[in-house]
Amino acid sequence: MASDVTEIKPRMVPLREGMFRMPDRLDMPAALLGDRCRNCGESFFPPRVFCAACSSGEMEAVEFASTGEIDTFTIVRQQPPNSVMVPPYAIVRVRLDDGPTVQTVMATEDIGSARIGQQVQLAARRLMEDESGNIVVSFMARPIPS
Ligand SMILES: [Zn+2]
Repeated sequence: MASDVTEIKPRMVPLREGMFRMPDRLDMPAALLGDRCRNCGESFFPPRVFCAACSSGEMEAVEFASTGEIDTFTIVRQQPPNSVMVPPYAIVRVRLDDGPTVQTVMATEDIGSARIGQQVQLAARRLMEDESGNIVVSFMARPIPS
């Protein structure tokens, strides 16, 4: 007789749908999904309906490179209310190689590499587990060894 018990396999779910292209596994590169203005070429993350630079509505969806450079950062040593990140961690601003500047975080084990000019890769990382046991995934910056 076949068992009704199916193996429960934790599912990976993005923190927010449509934020980045979800890789098959954790720690793989995560390309952010944004858009670019067809009129002036400015790129945006998250996507916009109208261009903030020229007000054009001619936007096209793009997938940005997952690599970039830290242009500023700050270390967080105390847990802010409702934060799921465990301190210490870094809030970093990353200028993507082919796109806009985005804000993300660097987890505890990587903050020794938090410095201006550091090359980083945005990767899918475990943020927390939700009530259904799914692994909630967000993108975080990881140092690229030079
Ligand atoms: Zn524009």
